Amino acid sequence: MQVKPSIRGLKPYQPGKTPEEVREELGLERVVKLASNENPYGASPAVSEAVAEALAHVAVYPDGAARALRKETAARIGVREDQLLFGNGSDEVILILCRAVLEPGDNIVTAWPTFPQYRHNALIEGAEIKEVPLQDGFHDLDAMAEEVDSSTKIVFVCNPNNPSGTHTGAEKFRAFMNQIPKDVIVVSDEAYHEYVDTEDYPDTLSMIDEYPNLLVLRTFSKAYGIASLRVGYGVGKEALIAAVEPGREPFNTNSAAQAGALAALKDSRFLADCVKSNSAEKRKFEQFCEENQFHYYPSQANFILMSVDLPGGDVFNHLQRKGFIVRNGEALGFPQHVRITFGRPEDNDRIREELLALRQEEASVD
Ligand SMILES: *Cc1c(COP(=O)(O)O)cnc(C)c1O
Repeated sequence: MQVKPSIRGLKPYQPGKTPEEVREELGLERVVKLASNENPYGASPAVSEAVAEALAHVAVYPDGAARALRKETAARIGVREDQLLFGNGSDEVILILCRAVLEPGDNIVTAWPTFPQYRHNALIEGAEIKEVPLQDGFHDLDAMAEEVDSSTKIVFVCNPNNPSGTHTGAEKFRAFMNQIPKDVIVVSDEAYHEYVDTEDYPDTLSMIDEYPNLLVLRTFSKAYGIASLRVGYGVGKEALIAAVEPGREPFNTNSAAQAGALAALKDSRFLADCVKSNSAEKRKFEQFCEENQFHYYPSQANFILMSVDLPGGDVFNHLQRKGFIVRNGEALGFPQHVRITFGRPEDNDRIREELLALRQEEASVD
């Protein structure tokens, strides 16, 4: 059996342990997963109703154009309907884009560390990856612009960035767009944009008419709380969307997913409540870090990348024994950090207590 050279040696995505597995292994009563930036409040109650209704029609193919969801999304974000490309998660929009655009000999430019799917999909298409280290946790857009050459096809800007949580400001982003040739696609991956609570964040949708090479990615997996249904989308100029759309499968978003996303979109109250709580929980974590002089990266997302001056693996193991699954920074390019998704207030309180306890334990050993 022969696979194409570009995929040889690549590893499939390694999912972490499920809460059920951890509960069984460690004999715990309750395990909370705060490792994948899911919404701790679940989804709007309207979602399960809409999904149940959709499940009454499982024999019928979904609407391949996702018309109802498209219409509502376009109206809410203020773009035209044919500016949208829906995917089975925004992960799939990244795949479709790479599939449509990249050939061996091409390259992409990304930050490092950043969301790994840019690299993974570009490698499969045979492209080279030019990675530009984050500067103090933030995208170094000047250095990224310098890396662009005549073989560059896509530049990925993850804003806010996963796993650092940091954001790129409006002025910096516009200056960057002005430096990038118009035949190079710039992706602004805004998986966490609903959570952003700074004024200094680019309004990229309003820039699309001016920059025909800009593709904005959004998702229903994070703040909208429907990660399992898999819906994300890209927004760009009609010509850009039309050019890459043939790379999409005809029925890539299923009926339950479309119905669930539509219901989630309409419940703006639920979204606003989640976002408000997230900002409050973020402030508590940041304050906690300040008070205890723990290093952290300022977050505009629903997670924090922070350090208690111990190897990420040790912190991960300690929290897991206490019933909290977080992300070990050692696997993310930050060996002294952990990435913690903000959970419910009472869980966050306990995590901070556990972090302090661990820190004090270690200090008494030293
Ligand atoms: C979670 C995440 C995504 C993927 O979202 P899906 O829509 O669930 O595929 C994309 N980009 C970033 C930066 C993310 O953190």
